[in-house]
Amino acid sequence: MSEISSDERPDPTGAPTTVETPLGPVPVTPRVCPACGAANAAVAPGPYSRPPWAIKTCPACAFVYLDPVPRYEALNETLSWEKSREAENARRARERPVSYKVSTALRKRNRLFPRRDIARMAEQHAPPGNVVDIGCAEGGRAMTLKEGYVPFGIEISAELSAEANRRFAARGGRCEHAPASVGLTRFDDGFFTAAMLRSFLEHETEPHTVLAELARTLSPSGIAIVKVPNFASLNRRLTGRKWCGFRYPDHVNYFTPKSLTEMAARHGFKADFGLTGAIPTSDNMWAILRRRTG
Ligand SMILES: [Zn+2]
Repeated sequence: MSEISSDERPDPTGAPTTVETPLGPVPVTPRVCPACGAANAAVAPGPYSRPPWAIKTCPACAFVYLDPVPRYEALNETLSWEKSREAENARRARERPVSYKVSTALRKRNRLFPRRDIARMAEQHAPPGNVVDIGCAEGGRAMTLKEGYVPFGIEISAELSAEANRRFAARGGRCEHAPASVGLTRFDDGFFTAAMLRSFLEHETEPHTVLAELARTLSPSGIAIVKVPNFASLNRRLTGRKWCGFRYPDHVNYFTPKSLTEMAARHGFKADFGLTGAIPTSDNMWAILRRRTG
């Protein structure tokens, strides 16, 4: 019996299988462009990289993304992952004063617009029924859905998904402990009236797989509500690599209104940003994905 675990076996493609971080090695996997599928192994890390993490811009479609990415098991289980989050938070806090003035001014501007609550949006735009919160954590957000909306969730953390499952079960729902692309496969066609993807898609290594599963599991009139950082935002253009939307290595996709629209369209959805969902003065954007008709 071999003593070498699958994680330690050299990758046949020659790509690195671990990234050395100050907190220890993190298992990683290479990826193609998550937007267009182009093989960009030979593309050099771009200006938004922060060693040991590489950010690439796809030469074919201009999508900006992390490559390689931490493997799912590292996201779920390793202690070094939690520590790396703490270290990343510390880095962001240290750098905040540099972009503080710009950010504060923009934040004041954004106060002109009401804060959005994704559960209220689901109630406003979808009829009562089953609602899935993708990356639901401990379930607190979905539990605020009013009566008639049954909370379901998918969560990659074992502890959080157990807590969410306990809470959702009391209302007839459940939480799947799995990556989103796998968890959604456990639900029937047309099962959900709405899906909530709040600060989720920027973390998802397989966004196309998740959107394809949403196209299958949403009812004919079902909607997906998406909130992601807006890489095309004014603040990102002004603050460059110090933009608050960069999180290493948690954020693996950097969407713009255009790339989100194009990705959604490939799965039969039209992305509706409304009047204020994609304003350049906000660091984030909001879209409601509806099936295209006709
Ligand atoms: Zn591409």
